Amino acid sequence: MTGRITRRGALALGAAAGAGLGVTSLAGPAAAATPTKTFAPLPLDAKPRPVPAEGYILDRIGTSMHAVTANGNQTSFVVTRAGVVLIDAPPSLAAQLPAAIRRVTTKPVTHIIYTHSHADHIANAFAFGDVIRVAHEDTAAILRASRDPNRPLPTVTFRDTRTLHVGGERFELSYPGPNHEAGNIIIHVPGQRAAVMCDVVLPGWSPFKAWGTADSVPGVLRAHDVLARLDIDTFVGGHVHRLGTPADIRASRDFTYDLWHTTARAVARIPLAAYASQAEPGNQWALFQLYYDAVADAVEPEIISRWSATLGGVDVFTRDNVVTIAVSLLLDAPRDIH
Ligand SMILES: [Zn+2]
Repeated sequence: MTGRITRRGALALGAAAGAGLGVTSLAGPAAAATPTKTFAPLPLDAKPRPVPAEGYILDRIGTSMHAVTANGNQTSFVVTRAGVVLIDAPPSLAAQLPAAIRRVTTKPVTHIIYTHSHADHIANAFAFGDVIRVAHEDTAAILRASRDPNRPLPTVTFRDTRTLHVGGERFELSYPGPNHEAGNIIIHVPGQRAAVMCDVVLPGWSPFKAWGTADSVPGVLRAHDVLARLDIDTFVGGHVHRLGTPADIRASRDFTYDLWHTTARAVARIPLAAYASQAEPGNQWALFQLYYDAVADAVEPEIISRWSATLGGVDVFTRDNVVTIAVSLLLDAPRDIH
């Protein structure tokens, strides 16, 4: 850790131009020339599963729900008496999702529920033709602005909650407020004791960089709290390698709160003004960069030591996510995160 911190600090001060941004080997100047970095080994629960010959993993959830996992994406569908309800339609599963549905049922797809607007989750929705599409009203607004023919507009929208009954199955849709994205919803399927929410809890893994450009980091924490209260057995998170459990939701929640609180303590302890003498007077960006480097230097080793044996990728994005939280503490300044 020391070599990395020292070099980043030197770069920030402009004293090591050409040292190689992004080259973060820990072994000193000789190793700095190599373009690779050694990352911590993945914990067992974060590792990929073997993919069968079909090219995707098909998991059964409850009696009539299924998840398809491949190419780093994960989506799910429920076979009802009236037809198939898809939850998202990722372009990376354009071939795999229809193949998986055909393995399970001959019924047609009648509905797609959009978890949120992001292309990696719904930009194959057009391929399912004229079905009922359900989404949060903020997702509809984002899609109207995006004008992407691959992501057709929802035909049914809601604001806070919506119960959907299809062919004997009940879908409880709810919105915990802006989080990973405005309009990113929770889909609870009580009959299958399952819930879906994308890009908030990634079972076995620490969060993606900046929670995927989160619209609200405090909202990501609030969404964790709502998920932790659900009475479910199975959780679908939208990425990485496997399905989740309530224990995965608790681990992701504990990690994210730990990151938030440890960052908040560092922000309270480290004075911004201490770095003023190291930047040109009036260069506010340089001053904040020096300050955020110091905050990240303080928080990252603590978090890595506490979590890298438990969750995947803790050593990859924690530094960036500390800075994301430090900015959120300054700008969002939430009073409800304890
Ligand atoms: Zn997303």
